[in-house]
Amino acid sequence: MHGAELICASKGEPLVIVGFPSIAVVIAIILPGQGEFVPRSIVCTLVEPVVEFTMRLQLSSSSDMAYGEILNKYRPDLRPFEDVYRRLHSSPELSGQEEQTAAVAAEFLTDLGYEVHTHIGGYGVAGVLRNGPGPTVLVRADMDGLPVEEKTGLPYASKKRVKDARDGVVKHVMHACGHDTHVTTLAAAATLLHSARSHWSGTLVCIFQPAEEHLDGAKAMIVDGLYEKVPKPDYVLAQHVMKMRTGSVGIRAGPMLTASDALDVRIFGKGGHGSAPHVCIDPVLIGASIVTRLQSIVSREVTPGQLAVVTCGSIHAGNAANIIPDHLDLQLSIRTYNPIIRERVLAAVHRIIEAECDAAGTVEKPVIKTVSSAPATVNDEGMVKILRATFCSYFKEDLVEAEPATASEDFSLLATEVGAPYVMWGFGGTDAKTWDDAVAKGTVDKLPSNHSPYFAPVIEPTLRTGVDAMALAALTFLWGKTSSQ
Ligand SMILES: [Zn+2]
Ligand SMILES: [Zn+2]
Repeated sequence: MHGAELICASKGEPLVIVGFPSIAVVIAIILPGQGEFVPRSIVCTLVEPVVEFTMRLQLSSSSDMAYGEILNKYRPDLRPFEDVYRRLHSSPELSGQEEQTAAVAAEFLTDLGYEVHTHIGGYGVAGVLRNGPGPTVLVRADMDGLPVEEKTGLPYASKKRVKDARDGVVKHVMHACGHDTHVTTLAAAATLLHSARSHWSGTLVCIFQPAEEHLDGAKAMIVDGLYEKVPKPDYVLAQHVMKMRTGSVGIRAGPMLTASDALDVRIFGKGGHGSAPHVCIDPVLIGASIVTRLQSIVSREVTPGQLAVVTCGSIHAGNAANIIPDHLDLQLSIRTYNPIIRERVLAAVHRIIEAECDAAGTVEKPVIKTVSSAPATVNDEGMVKILRATFCSYFKEDLVEAEPATASEDFSLLATEVGAPYVMWGFGGTDAKTWDDAVAKGTVDKLPSNHSPYFAPVIEPTLRTGVDAMALAALTFLWGKTSSQ
């Protein structure tokens, strides 16, 4: 089906070249008897000098037809998946509590005949499809919703309220980050890749990850023995629905998402009567000073041009006007790219909190606890080079250059744990007309983005774009076959 096809995948730099009879003939002559699969190390040594040239040719040729044909022939009817999406959207689950969503994912994989592992690091699910020699490609979707009250007005909007197991508080729940699109598109892409298995060789690992919003789900799966249950990947892939025009896909090499550190802080004052502050130590004043002073870190201590964000997202103390409370709690979120800047910002946060407590004369030291921490997501340049070529051939003008974002992810841990390269890309969920109008008016910043109670990806072509992007990316890094069977 591919016609002449050549697969080259050197360490960290896989390459798929489709539809170049002359190149394929040359390789066939050089490597007699290699059958359908060409060993990567040999091929890359021989072929790399022509790789750049060939890739450029590929961009302007009709070679993308091979991938397009595979997607169009094997993409399942997406209408049932749209129903799955609506059901997931109306029934989101909080981080670490994704029991029903995981069951949906596991059922899909089981029905398809994948080797399925459940309850990894909580409700993590892994499906393995072994399909002959070749690389192992891991594709990941996250499953959790957020404690947000949905205000989209959609007929399938979430009205759910559940108890958060972390703090026992009953909360609204919403798929405000669009992880329902990730679960749906990976289920459909797993279906497509299973149906198209005569066109590729290798091992596909589909991961449905819990607790991404807490940035601890990937780590939990690894600690719980993920890589004792499934093969270690050679390549790791993930995607995220974004505030972008639906149908579009955004990719970039290098920094994509920031490192994240979330801190819980408790300041200890000395409580007493609100009319007698002179015999108390007021933690509210200390907290106010800390919040103000923290803003000086980015403006005064970080190199201009380097990205850093310090946000105090929560401050709580006391419950009455006439009582000075005895403690105050802060929740901080810190985002950076550069590891040196990250260390410097974290050190400054600790220094300021402790110094403000000293300045107020507190007796007890503040408690500063790291509640979550994730490294920056930095896309592998070699993989992006290859993926950009196949995405560009398929998505054409809908492929855009992504901007680095200040959001964070923990999926890169699934790759760095085993030294594998990784790529994450974005795909658009914003209605096309809404997007175009906002661009014309210069109001794109006002459109609802991830985590907004109004974030409502249009179902199509968002799902189809996500399915195609994930399947295409997996096919890019798996070995192709020179002919269908
Ligand atoms: Zn999110
Ligand atoms: Zn997300």
